[in-house]
Amino acid sequence: MDGFTGRGAVITGGASGIGLATARELARRGATVVLADIEQPALERAVNQLRGEGLDAHGVVCDVRHLNQVGHLADEAFRLLGRVHVVFNNAGIAVAGPMTQMTHDDWRWVIDVDLWGPIHGVEVFLPRLLEQGEGGHLLFTSSFAGLVTNIGLGPYSVAKYGVVALAESLAREVKSAGIGVSVLCPMLVATNIADSVRNRTADYGGSPTLRDPGQVATGDNVVLDAADVARLTVESMLAGRLYILPHQAARASIRRRFERIDRAFDEQAAEGWEH
Ligand code: NAD
Repeated sequence: MDGFTGRGAVITGGASGIGLATARELARRGATVVLADIEQPALERAVNQLRGEGLDAHGVVCDVRHLNQVGHLADEAFRLLGRVHVVFNNAGIAVAGPMTQMTHDDWRWVIDVDLWGPIHGVEVFLPRLLEQGEGGHLLFTSSFAGLVTNIGLGPYSVAKYGVVALAESLAREVKSAGIGVSVLCPMLVATNIADSVRNRTADYGGSPTLRDPGQVATGDNVVLDAADVARLTVESMLAGRLYILPHQAARASIRRRFERIDRAFDEQAAEGWEH
């Protein structure tokens, strides 16, 4: 993509945090944005905020866990925007705690929102972008936890690794159609993610029991501002970069992961494995 003037963008999880900041950044650069979110009051506030800033914004209530709701979002987005060029599959939630304490409902909730949500986005929007024939960009929010695991974030990592795989696979498949793909993998960003439980619906057995908050090792990592992450995200999209990595601190851990994998080959060879 060479710019956003006159482009249509859909952002899931657009009522808060990274989604809202990215919607604002895109709209400031000339896009018309459709924010989609499960939280209606927050969504209305976000749309009004952007409109108050003179930006072109609409809101559609959508729970990304449900394919039919994402289908409805696409219908509304094409009706409101005429054409859609950017689809940001960003809505997400987190459940923290050791896997021994994860309930089946915890697993279901994380996978339903964080993995099925982006899959639904691809199922619904990709055929329409291809049919439209104007290229575009599919953007995903994974996480640093989608590249390196962390104690206390098991289910979240399982979902977020899936999102990285989704983006990497797609990038190769849709390139010839002029559709770019990027996946955002941040460490900590100042948003409302720590209060994810506000969106945990009754079908997951209500709020989870409180777990030892010391289980997630966050170290002394920098907490970035969502607006800064949004700027990098949009610039990376324009540059056509697949991986968006806002935290320099992630680099050493990612490298160590690949070194651990690589070392296994050496160890196996040293033990006589010849294949
Ligand atoms: P946030 O809570 O501020 O925003 C998430 C938005 O998603 C909220 O508006 C929420 O209402 C919405 N949402 C939740 N469930 C939904 C559903 N089923 N359908 C539609 N919308 C739903 O948090 P955020 O940090 O801005 O989260 C955005 C993305 O960033 C998530 O995918 C999250 O996993 C990822 N992420 C965040 C951080 C961080 O430190 N904040 C780090 C890495 C990755």
